[in-house]
Amino acid sequence: MAYLLARVENFPRFDGESLTAKPVMGYGQSGKPPHEVHNFSLSSDGFIYGYLPKEGGGDLARLGGHRGATEVSGVTVIFISSGALCGYYRNATVFSIPVRHPDGLMAGESEIYCRVRVAPEDAYLIPADRRDYVMQPKPAGMFPVLYGENGSPWVKWFENLATVSRQNIVNERKRRKWTKAVERSSKSREKALTKYGFKCECCGASYKDHVRAAMFEVHHKVPYSENFEARPLRVSDLAVLCANCHRMIHRMPDLADVKALKDYLVSD
Ligand SMILES: [Zn+2]
Ligand SMILES: [Zn+2]
Repeated sequence: MAYLLARVENFPRFDGESLTAKPVMGYGQSGKPPHEVHNFSLSSDGFIYGYLPKEGGGDLARLGGHRGATEVSGVTVIFISSGALCGYYRNATVFSIPVRHPDGLMAGESEIYCRVRVAPEDAYLIPADRRDYVMQPKPAGMFPVLYGENGSPWVKWFENLATVSRQNIVNERKRRKWTKAVERSSKSREKALTKYGFKCECCGASYKDHVRAAMFEVHHKVPYSENFEARPLRVSDLAVLCANCHRMIHRMPDLADVKALKDYLVSD
């Protein structure tokens, strides 16, 4: 099996504030979602696209690819942030040349290109409060990516973690299923509409008549990378949105950030 380990805090495109001028890509700035949000967001084609540091990851021969291969599948990609495991993909496809993000995501003026594609059921995220699995052994020096050789000590470290820490690892497909169930439940609808009224939190549309009230939906602001299964549902996790805004927010990298969508819609 092929392994690739990438340091997410070293993504050159997301390093500086100059690259995050547009609100939708305002990550890396204080209070904004961290890099891994990109790497665990579902795109409109049903896949998750991840980014690898520009300097590495494209040597497909080291991932078991044939000469001249443009992609290799079946790769385990491990993301390390601040020295600790923050998430991983199984069965990922790695491209030799970055592909365009299907939703045309931008970082400032630059288009975002992706090097890895994975199905949501094969994407695993460590909740932010559990990112204390420090990489062992600590690699010498700086590196953008590492290729796993058979028996690499860090591959052993990772596989051991993935086995013993299952309950602390969030599977993206499970998380999305759970969100859908919350949004469709009549109980959360009643809760949210009672608290926030028939008004879209994003565009401000507001109607009370029986016919137009049907446009309002409940959105579950999934606290990104929290351990959702251990968390009771709170009305503050819910938002009332019109059907249009609701559809749009599910294409945003951070589902919890209604304001980011609002800013995005007025940005151009
Ligand atoms: Zn709206
Ligand atoms: Zn929603």
